[in-house]
Amino acid sequence: MSQTYTMTINGKAVSGAETFGVENPATGEVFAQAPNCTEAQLDEAVAAARAALPGWKATPIEKRRQALQAIAGVIAQNGEELARLLTREQGKPHPDAMGDVLGGAHWLVETAKLDIPEHVSEDSPERLAVTRYGPIGVVAAIVPWNFPIILMMFKVAPALLAGNTLVVKPAPTTPLTTLKIAELIRDILPPGVLNVISGADRLGPWLTAHKDIDKVSFTGSTETGKKVMASAAKDLKKVTLELGGNDAAIVMPDVDVKAVAEQLFWAAFRNAGQICIATKRMYIHKDVYEPLKAAIVDYAASVKVGDGAEQGTQIGPIQNKAQYERVLELIQDAKDKGYKFLIGGNSSNVPGYFVPVTILDNPPEDARIVQEEQFGPVLPLMSFDNIDEVVGRANASIYGLGASIWTKDLDRAQALAVQLQAGTVWINESQHLSPHAAFGGHKQSGVGVEGGQDGLLEFCQAQTVFMRRT
Ligand code: NAD
Repeated sequence: MSQTYTMTINGKAVSGAETFGVENPATGEVFAQAPNCTEAQLDEAVAAARAALPGWKATPIEKRRQALQAIAGVIAQNGEELARLLTREQGKPHPDAMGDVLGGAHWLVETAKLDIPEHVSEDSPERLAVTRYGPIGVVAAIVPWNFPIILMMFKVAPALLAGNTLVVKPAPTTPLTTLKIAELIRDILPPGVLNVISGADRLGPWLTAHKDIDKVSFTGSTETGKKVMASAAKDLKKVTLELGGNDAAIVMPDVDVKAVAEQLFWAAFRNAGQICIATKRMYIHKDVYEPLKAAIVDYAASVKVGDGAEQGTQIGPIQNKAQYERVLELIQDAKDKGYKFLIGGNSSNVPGYFVPVTILDNPPEDARIVQEEQFGPVLPLMSFDNIDEVVGRANASIYGLGASIWTKDLDRAQALAVQLQAGTVWINESQHLSPHAAFGGHKQSGVGVEGGQDGLLEFCQAQTVFMRRT
């Protein structure tokens, strides 16, 4: 694959008047330059999306479905190369990068199967009342750096299927694979339907403030989500916000310790803990606390942390310097407070943004590592005694993204699930998402949902036509 990265505006390759460097987080070295979109280029991208809207909206939905499938096909064909590039810019191990890339293709294929509903609420001799769902218009899709491809497709697939046109902005630290995919699929869609631009920190605020954007679909931190909502409020753009989380796992006393230890480990540490729906606090019943703690720490000691490009690596580096420093700061805070470390906690002397797998033993509930979203490979384990009390602890958060329950008693787990203030609850698994199910955050974890027909309708606006027959 060529090392020149261009934006896609109105179906054409557009270079940046300026560029910015993209680092490999495993080495800290800048290995490529990405275009730094100017305000004039942003205007061009939005104007192209606006001009393409009537044609795309009028394209029969069957043709739009075919376009999603064709995009998925091209991504899958180039999966290996795209995954290698993703590992280089994002840091994740190659198999996980394949999962992100092919997961994006899968999301397109499955979303293409969804239907846009039409509701007849009255069909009487006097009146016909029909509600139809049409596209909203020009959508700005803003994507974070932890899963650049699949999270982009959470937005692109339903937005295109519903007949919207888009301007997509990847995170400044992971723009390359996104730019490459846009280049590979340039001929599939009519010019202007899908524009992909990249830029430094200034670009996101420009995009959300742009007068000719109708909807902002944003995935990122809660703090940034508030800024996006404030900016969108100026001209009442529609918003979907997929934000941060502080997911609790609740482990009941009846679990098979040996069987769940590894699953619980990966619930927290996959992608170096940089997952919105990673387990970020683990509450373990006191009857199994000691053996499960020992089993998780034993397993943690066997896991290989390293450059994602090296075979056998299971956990890569933190994706960028700012996040690396934030995670180190939380570890330092835990040290300063004298919390007990079961494993990790040391900084490594190798280049790159590596943080060793770090597990804390029963820090207090008000510890920063318990209350804040760490978004890194650091996990607090805490014991509990009483189930009502632990539900209260799990729910005592500004976040409400996900939660998991681990037990053999499935009826009890179902009853417990509805008590948890979270948009998704998993029982005896974690992080599973489906293109056919709604995913979104309660409380400050988000506004609106992605996935399934609910997610598709977030890219539609309803129009009801009442027709008097007499
Ligand atoms: P971030 O909020 O820093 O950045 C996300 C995106 O927003 C990037 O593309 C960034 O360039 C852009 N951006 C930054 N400031 C902006 C502004 N003022 N206006 C418009 N856009 C702006 O988030 P991040 O650090 O890239 O991602 C990590 C966070 O994302 C975590 O909190 C994580 O939980 C959350 N996340 C949520 C979900 C979800 O679906 N709920 C999924 C993945 C990540």
